[in-house]
Amino acid sequence: MNLLVLKEIDFLDYRVAVTPEIGKRFTELGHLVLIETEAGIRSGFSNHDYVSAGCEIMFNRCFTDIDIVFSVNPLPADCIRSLAPSTVVISPQDLFSRVENLTLLTEMRVTSYALDLIPRTTRAQYMDILSSQANLAGYKAVIEAAHLLNRALPLMMTTAGTIPAAKVLVIGAGVAGLQAIATAKRLGAIVSAFDVRAAAKEQVESLGAKFIDIENAERTDGVYAKRMTSYYKKMQEKKLLSVLSHQDIIITTAQIPGKKAPVILEAEMIKVMKTDSIIIDLASKSGGNCAFTKHGKTVEMDGVTIVSFDNILNLIPHDASRLFAKNIFAFFEFLTQKMEENPDISTIEDEIIKATLLTYNGRLMNAQMGRLQRNQC
Ligand code: NAD
Repeated sequence: MNLLVLKEIDFLDYRVAVTPEIGKRFTELGHLVLIETEAGIRSGFSNHDYVSAGCEIMFNRCFTDIDIVFSVNPLPADCIRSLAPSTVVISPQDLFSRVENLTLLTEMRVTSYALDLIPRTTRAQYMDILSSQANLAGYKAVIEAAHLLNRALPLMMTTAGTIPAAKVLVIGAGVAGLQAIATAKRLGAIVSAFDVRAAAKEQVESLGAKFIDIENAERTDGVYAKRMTSYYKKMQEKKLLSVLSHQDIIITTAQIPGKKAPVILEAEMIKVMKTDSIIIDLASKSGGNCAFTKHGKTVEMDGVTIVSFDNILNLIPHDASRLFAKNIFAFFEFLTQKMEENPDISTIEDEIIKATLLTYNGRLMNAQMGRLQRNQC
């Protein structure tokens, strides 16, 4: 098969969907891997690295005779319009913000898979791009906060005196939050965290951090959080007001899939925080957890620095690409194995295929996304 890997220029994203290491594995399987020129350069992979791995460099973007397109971001509309029918697109689709792509993918009779809809199960873990990328985002958020903070993180006992450990609060203990906790702990900070999911308490405590309990409040039992009641929000505010004044760094990651992120840090909470403390808001793309967050910008409010990155993975693109490419390869292997058993992908009874197969042969295959499309019309 002819596999195409695009340069992510339309999204100013430094990552690349296939690294030379994974390109080599595809070529060893007998596939032709076409890499758009300099697609990997900002992740530290040169054209030369890809050629050495057996890939070919494509100097002018062309979709003729392509079987599969891999990308880190959803394909831009003009690319989708250039695809031949039956071309397969494997990428995240970000449909909650680009539902119009569904119509286009269907009209062009493209077979598309949404990697961001992979079930959050143990079986699918090795293909889970949300987890691999969130994990690095959580790590990098702490490193960036430590860099901005005007003091050290670990307790230091020196002949000139003792420096107390910095305090880090993580709001939202999903994949990014748990990695932020682990990273802050490794750097010697005193870490606490909270989350609305019942399962999060044990996970937070297993990393040696303190779980902040909101007494007598409801919890979410499912894998994903839901929007909480106004009673919960009040209790959460009360609790936060009592702990925020001690914190040096706050990393916020609270999200609800397909919805706006909950605003947790309001104006009165920023007021009680230490001057020079740092908030890194990882939920800014979906609105942010802090009332003052501006996506992609750093703002200051009452002496507190509130940071949001346009794409924090652009600060760690080498490893982000390596993990993304491994997820892509795992998904490809899984898919080809399933198709060897049953070439009609639309009839395969498998939860991963059912969750990710979006469009096939001019039909919309994913019922949940069909509802989303109808609601937006
Ligand atoms: P996410 O990015 O959707 O949200 C981040 C965290 O914010 C979640 O833990 C969520 O509960 C929390 N949150 C939402 N609203 C909040 C609020 N008002 N206050 C405090 N916290 C709030 O989450 P994610 O990292 O994508 O993970 C989602 C779920 O999937 C988690 O339960 C995670 O354990 C699970 N997961 C499972 C697997 C697996 O089994 N293989 C892999 C990855 C993730």
